[in-house]
Amino acid sequence: MQQGRGIRHILRWGSDDLKRRYLAPSLAGRLVGALGVTEPDAGSDIGALRTVARRAGDAFVVNGAKTFVTTAGRGDFVTLAVKTDAAAGAGGISLLVVDLAAPGVRVARRLEKLGWHSSDTAELAFEDVRVPAANLIGQEGMGFHYLMDAVQLERLACAAIAVGSCAVCLERTLAYMKQRSAFGHPLTSFQALTHRLADLAAELEGARALVYHAAWLLERGEGAVRECAMAKLLATELAQRTADDCLQCFGGYGFMEEHALARFVRDARAGTIVAGTSETMRELVARSMIAGEERPRSRAGESSRRRPLPRRRQPSRPSPGRRRPRKDRGSGCRRASRS
Ligand SMILES: Cc1cc2nc3c(=O)[nH]c(=O)nc-3n(C[C@H](O)[C@H](O)[C@H](O)COP(=O)(O)OP(=O)(O)OC[C@H]3O[C@@H](n4cnc5c(N)ncnc54)[C@H](O)[C@@H]3O)c2cc1C
Repeated sequence: MQQGRGIRHILRWGSDDLKRRYLAPSLAGRLVGALGVTEPDAGSDIGALRTVARRAGDAFVVNGAKTFVTTAGRGDFVTLAVKTDAAAGAGGISLLVVDLAAPGVRVARRLEKLGWHSSDTAELAFEDVRVPAANLIGQEGMGFHYLMDAVQLERLACAAIAVGSCAVCLERTLAYMKQRSAFGHPLTSFQALTHRLADLAAELEGARALVYHAAWLLERGEGAVRECAMAKLLATELAQRTADDCLQCFGGYGFMEEHALARFVRDARAGTIVAGTSETMRELVARSMIAGEERPRSRAGESSRRRPLPRRRQPSRPSPGRRRPRKDRGSGCRRASRS
């Protein structure tokens, strides 16, 4: 299973050759790609990453380490964030497609996790790995922009997964409460529990609507940096609370592995960390509010490459007086953080 994490960058900016060698086989299910950004000493702060790629003729020579890489242990290739200009901060980041079977690539450690037990997560080490220059995605030094653009869909996917898990938690909890009795009455007769579920159900509908809204904006090429951040923040935080409250409604059985609630609690914990933490999401939203932006755009933009929806589906615009000229509006991701 791959969420598009390692292939979206190839789809958007890769050469035809890269698409033929990696994208098409991935879509056909023959290859599995990973995304290697996080390092042992650099997570939210992407500009601080230290894996370097030095140009040597028609190849790059890669040295460094990545951690928390999903599907690294069983994958075939990794879309790797490297510094091609170590002095340039985020502007020195490039993306290379690296075969995980290439000489010098090693799974340094398989990581044990609190949840997400069905996904494999590992640390990767790169020692003098020769990567063909043809495996560079897009332009050298544009990696940060590509990452920030692609991460919007990943955040939205996290939000959608969180919404789905909330719905299943509520559904299972309600079913359990209908058949479980205490003091001669089904658990559904206790308002202390059902009102809790009612609150969660209301919040779930709000989160679901925001996810659809962000998806719609992203589809029209609006970038939707702020809305994707809001949707991820709201839905993943809600998933944690929902799993926890639902477990409480189960009583002791919620704590047992024979019911799914224990797993939901564990798995929901990852949602507020992956693809940018909740703190980073809040920072993004706050910065866009302070800047007075109506709708921050992804820095890599590329909106013109996407097909607009038919006119009747365009949203109503605020009055012209309230809108700032496009050139004055910020990108919404100025710092080299995972935001
Ligand atoms: C299950 C799982 C799967 C993952 N899969 C991948 C993957 O496939 N590829 C990949 O590259 N990465 C992956 N990651 C890594 C993930 O993207 C990072 O964990 C995340 O970006 C946070 O980085 P960090 O863990 O280094 O935390 P840090 O950046 O060290 O942050 C630690 C704490 O400080 C807070 N913090 C940091 N900066 C600020 C700030 N400016 N203001 C306020 N608070 C701040 C953070 O929010 C957090 O609470 C995965 C992580 C997990 C848990």
